[in-house]
Amino acid sequence: YRLLLCSGSGCVSSGCKEVRESLLKELEKEGMLSSVELSLTGCIGICDVGPRMSVLPEGVFYCKLKPEDMKKIVKTHLLGGQIVEECCYSDRSTGQKVPYMQDIDFFKGQSKVVLRDCGMIDYRSMEEYIFHDGYYSLAKVLNEFSSEQVIDEIKKSGLRGRGGGGFPTGVKWQLAAKSKGDQKYVICNADEGDPGAFMDRSLLEGNPHLVLEGMTIAGYAMGANKGYVYIRAEYPLALEGLEYAIKEARDRNLLGKNIFGSGFDFDIEIRIGAGAFVCGEETALMCSVEGKRGEPRQKPPFPAESGLFGKPTVINNVETLGNVPIIIRKGSDWFSELGTEKSKGTKVFALAGDIHNTGLIEVPMGLTLGEIIYDIGGGIPKGKKFKVAQTGGPSGGCLTKAHLNTPVDYDSLVELGAIMGSGGLICMDEDTCMVDVARYFMEFVQEESCGKCVACRLGTKRMLEILERITTGRGREGDVELLEEIGKVVKDTALCGLGQTAANPVLSTIKYFRDEYDEHIRQKY
Ligand code: SF4
Repeated sequence: YRLLLCSGSGCVSSGCKEVRESLLKELEKEGMLSSVELSLTGCIGICDVGPRMSVLPEGVFYCKLKPEDMKKIVKTHLLGGQIVEECCYSDRSTGQKVPYMQDIDFFKGQSKVVLRDCGMIDYRSMEEYIFHDGYYSLAKVLNEFSSEQVIDEIKKSGLRGRGGGGFPTGVKWQLAAKSKGDQKYVICNADEGDPGAFMDRSLLEGNPHLVLEGMTIAGYAMGANKGYVYIRAEYPLALEGLEYAIKEARDRNLLGKNIFGSGFDFDIEIRIGAGAFVCGEETALMCSVEGKRGEPRQKPPFPAESGLFGKPTVINNVETLGNVPIIIRKGSDWFSELGTEKSKGTKVFALAGDIHNTGLIEVPMGLTLGEIIYDIGGGIPKGKKFKVAQTGGPSGGCLTKAHLNTPVDYDSLVELGAIMGSGGLICMDEDTCMVDVARYFMEFVQEESCGKCVACRLGTKRMLEILERITTGRGREGDVELLEEIGKVVKDTALCGLGQTAANPVLSTIKYFRDEYDEHIRQKY
């Protein structure tokens, strides 16, 4: 038997360490330690049923495990060959036990590309990554592709940045490749800061080599020989896994000098961010890597021309880089057949809030919001009605029940005043007050504003004051109009993306739920 025990952050917080200790004790008692292979994996996605353990080769999916369940599983399943039904997943609508992962609705509607191996391989084993075709793409580009051919392949795939902006990745690489510079850099932006979003953390925890391979291919394509992963300090497991993976790759000549004997040098270092949301903005991030205070600067010049230490730099998000080795391996034609005409491939979303199945999902671009929430997410708990899905976190906007048939892709969301963002998708039920939601996000951005420009520093402060007034029964006539006016000024005049999008949750909740603002203002508490 091979046992895959989820050891990602979600399962650690629900007690997987205790489950593992108990499992090892039971295996030892039965003399099975050497006949069973135990792999610690990253997150498989369905976080609210952790700790989870899969038993291979059958693929039985045990969840919500407690240390005392291990005795039964070892005796009944591993020794007796019988599935322990009570530890299997329960279908929410029928209450029936579903023993196999492929029969669980949450997984059925997904198309795992970048997350394919998360939860299925030991995150501390480079051999397992290689066994699952890892580093094949790097070897392929070093042996068969010129750097221009790599860029062409990524351009042809239609891959767009998964961090929120949606800029075509191949074009970004081409700009950096054409820029003159004795030194160039690749940066992986792992400063994921949206409330409720944990896509990057899970990918780094579950499959760090995929991201390292993507960075190395990016370095080859643009002529860089140095990469940085900028990761927030709040992700200790991801950080530990990444450090281990970098060491493994260096030890096997997959990072460093003369990779695979090709003459190409590329090495990667880690820089740890202190948790400032603004450092997810690329120019602020570069300041932070340089050891300065993380503040955005004016663009142009764009990083592809003058970035880190004034040198041409490509900054890509974790998920974007994770797609790169797969595109090279399977081909741009294969990738571009997934998704919609202008949004190719798949997207990872973090489902959170009032939804049955919280966790990580990966779906083809263009799936409708309703399919994501009901078919994969299992709908809204406690028999409540769906009210809103907030996409793109504090920079995004809300989608209502009128948008359940909307395809989720870059352009459709922008048309509705929301954005894809990095993939946070927070669901809210009918009991949610949208003015409170707007106040929550404004509080967040106000706190995270770096204060460099007046529009954002003061505009968000004034907007928060008005929202606090409204939500505590002191709202006045004209407050909503004032919020709209200030919001538009902040949007038009702020220096960086944080300020330019800070008003989005307020403007979008006013657009769809103006009556709730008016109701608050009418009521005096
Ligand atoms: Fe700083 Fe806000 Fe200006 Fe961005 S918009 S530079 S976060 S003050």
